[in-house]
Amino acid sequence: MAGFFGAISIYPCVTDVFYGTDYLSHLGTRRGGMATYDETTGHFNRSIHSISKASFRSKMEEELPKFIGNAGIGIISDTDAQPLLFNSRHGRFALITIGKINNFEELAKQALEHNMHLSEFSSGKVNPTELVGLMIIQKPSLEEGIRYAQEQIKGSLSLMLLTENGVVCARDLWGRTPVVIGQKEGAFCAASEPSAFYNLGYTLVHNLGPGEIVRLHDNRMEKLAEPLPDHMQICSFLWVYYGFPTSVFEGRNVEDVRNNIGFEMGKEDDMQVDCCCGVPDSGIGMAIGYSEGHNVPYRRAVTKYTTTWARSFMPSSQNMRNLVAKMKLIQNNTIIQNRRVLLCDDSIVRGTQLRDNTRCLLEGGAKEIHMRIASPPLVYACPFINFSESKSVMELITRRVIAELEGEEAAMNEERVHAYTITDSPEYKRMVDCIAEKFGLHSLRFTKLETLIRAIGLPHNHVCTHCFDGSSSHTL
Ligand code: SF4
Repeated sequence: MAGFFGAISIYPCVTDVFYGTDYLSHLGTRRGGMATYDETTGHFNRSIHSISKASFRSKMEEELPKFIGNAGIGIISDTDAQPLLFNSRHGRFALITIGKINNFEELAKQALEHNMHLSEFSSGKVNPTELVGLMIIQKPSLEEGIRYAQEQIKGSLSLMLLTENGVVCARDLWGRTPVVIGQKEGAFCAASEPSAFYNLGYTLVHNLGPGEIVRLHDNRMEKLAEPLPDHMQICSFLWVYYGFPTSVFEGRNVEDVRNNIGFEMGKEDDMQVDCCCGVPDSGIGMAIGYSEGHNVPYRRAVTKYTTTWARSFMPSSQNMRNLVAKMKLIQNNTIIQNRRVLLCDDSIVRGTQLRDNTRCLLEGGAKEIHMRIASPPLVYACPFINFSESKSVMELITRRVIAELEGEEAAMNEERVHAYTITDSPEYKRMVDCIAEKFGLHSLRFTKLETLIRAIGLPHNHVCTHCFDGSSSHTL
């Protein structure tokens, strides 16, 4: 995943860009970058850092004095180095992108056939943002170029351009990743999440619609392309996992949705437990709702240890890796002693975290562990955003269990797999029971798709649920 932030102001706005980008640190762990444009000298300044061993803030802070200007953009991501600088017939610009290009090879080949060139890294990999930039500059205007790139790409593409004449922002054609606009006196900004606005004094004034393109000036927002009607497919996982609790997407607050999911589940649940607890951070909102819906006390059975290690840093020895993996949570033995504990979490991807959580609670003396998950089982890989580090769909715990139950071939057969996505079908029940048994859980329940949609509060056909039910593939 990734998060971006851009600002343009009548005053120098470097600190807004720096802090605004830092406020999106939950959206990426590998790379951070910033670019500013100084109108008086005509200079672009740019820096990109690996943030896998140290935070964006610590890497960028020392360089701040070199950034000058009233306009800038920044990004934190799990993908390639950004922002990239271009000099073209549309003038100079810095570009940052969020999304996924599934037909990258084909588009790169087309670019080469059109006599364009792509810089190759020593690894032999080409930067997808460079490809997007080359596609944009093929067309007579920036907005036509952006639309061309979005239409050619199979996957998704939201982006921000820092130009010599404002900050241009575009949201993916199907609205999967949000782009929101903020305003304060003398300045406009744009970001992936409005949680970046509040401490910087910006007010959320606009959600870009699917395919909408705007140019931000210091005193106004200029519309370059209207949103596309009937195209909304916003990622439902924003509310379950990615989104910061204070963020609001399409009018729906993240924490509020998590509370609703938990409340609904707690109301329906017949399990007798002594307390419930959220796995920090994204499981907490659900657990608070569950506690109310089920009338059971909320207790902090586990507490997050804000590790001094960067999130994506992995030591080379397995022994050290195990120790670092354990550092994320510490169980409270007094709270869980001899109790039936119900844990709420956002999702189960590969199950590694779940194994650790179960182990630490059992070691701490819990009598029973019950797990409630804020999303339906993840059965399909995400083709639209860089959602998980899983290299293959077969890494998902659901697929591994299907393979154990029916063999590898069935686990790769989309038609067969579909039976496992239908809540309460015999296949679904068998899969859930099998996951519970594997992880030593006394019970395991996932939120139903219809409960998730109800909690989000948007029409089902406006929300992407592909990774749960395989739908929306027509928009690929
Ligand atoms: S497939 Fe899943 S993670 Fe990907 S955009 Fe859709 S809901 Fe989000």
